[in-house]
Amino acid sequence: MDKPKLKLAVYWGAACGGCCVSVLDVHEKLFDVVAAADLVFWPIALDIKYADVEAMPDGNIDLTLFNGAVRNSENEHMAHVLRKKSKILVAYGSCAHMGGIPGLANFSSKEEIFRRAYFDSESTLNPEKVTPQTKWDVKEGKLTLPVFYNDVRTLDQVVDVDYYLPGCPPQTERLVDVFMAIVTGAELPPKGSVVGARDKTQCDECNRKKSENKLIKKFYRPWEIYDDGETCFLEQGVICMGPATRSGCGVRCIEGNAPCRGCYGPSPEAKDPGAKMMSAIGTMIDAKDPEEIIEIIDHIEDPAGTFYRFSLPGSILRRSLIKKD
Ligand code: SF4
Ligand code: SF4
Repeated sequence: MDKPKLKLAVYWGAACGGCCVSVLDVHEKLFDVVAAADLVFWPIALDIKYADVEAMPDGNIDLTLFNGAVRNSENEHMAHVLRKKSKILVAYGSCAHMGGIPGLANFSSKEEIFRRAYFDSESTLNPEKVTPQTKWDVKEGKLTLPVFYNDVRTLDQVVDVDYYLPGCPPQTERLVDVFMAIVTGAELPPKGSVVGARDKTQCDECNRKKSENKLIKKFYRPWEIYDDGETCFLEQGVICMGPATRSGCGVRCIEGNAPCRGCYGPSPEAKDPGAKMMSAIGTMIDAKDPEEIIEIIDHIEDPAGTFYRFSLPGSILRRSLIKKD
């Protein structure tokens, strides 16, 4: 008798859709996937309703790839539903893993975001100051919208997560590896592991030339210098998140002559990417006078947004508590 097919689900919370596209990128491997699994839920591709998932027996889904952060009450509800219905729940991609780009909203409050989006933006005309309401009565009945939370959260800040597959988006080849390991019943890593990535840093795998004790007098945006294509970005004064970032992507940005932005999250020894980058940069500044040091650091554009670009909600910092008013 044929082995029963696995049941596979894909869901997106606060996400851009790139993770779902990376799942589609399996190309010819799709034949292996559909031979081994049935997709039972995937809002971007299949018309299966939330109620259908809620009606499934607990543990009915073998593997759920949850991409996106938890930003509103709908994301939170589906995180709880899919946790209950899934044997293995994977935080898929940077947003589910560490908060990702949507997590940068934790530098602002909900009120600041709504004010900017609905009142102050250059393209907004809203003299009656209308904002989205979570409940609205119309003659046909009641309309509802999800509640927008003040904080963006990672998936594991809401429910128990079995594995993390990092990246913005994760490399499709790594997803296929993980999927085939589950299909073939290979021994899975311990619960809580980061899969499809390695424990070293990007710098450990980067082929750019590094010198001992290179010091920096000025930092630059990537477009402000002519990259020689072979020297470490940091040594050229361009911020590269390599020292703080987990390897496993194949140093794909650096191979494309762009500095790493940290989408694989912090390496196991870095823990907090901002703290690790501040320490790495602190050892490279060519000055002893405090005023000169501040002047050099001032050339780093948006340090918080750069160091925590993919990881603010999952970092030690988690959010900004400073009101901008
Ligand atoms: S800082 Fe960036 S460019 Fe330099 S060695 Fe590390 S990964 Fe490579
Ligand atoms: S080089 Fe850095 S930013 Fe680029 S894919 Fe790899 S981890 Fe992500």
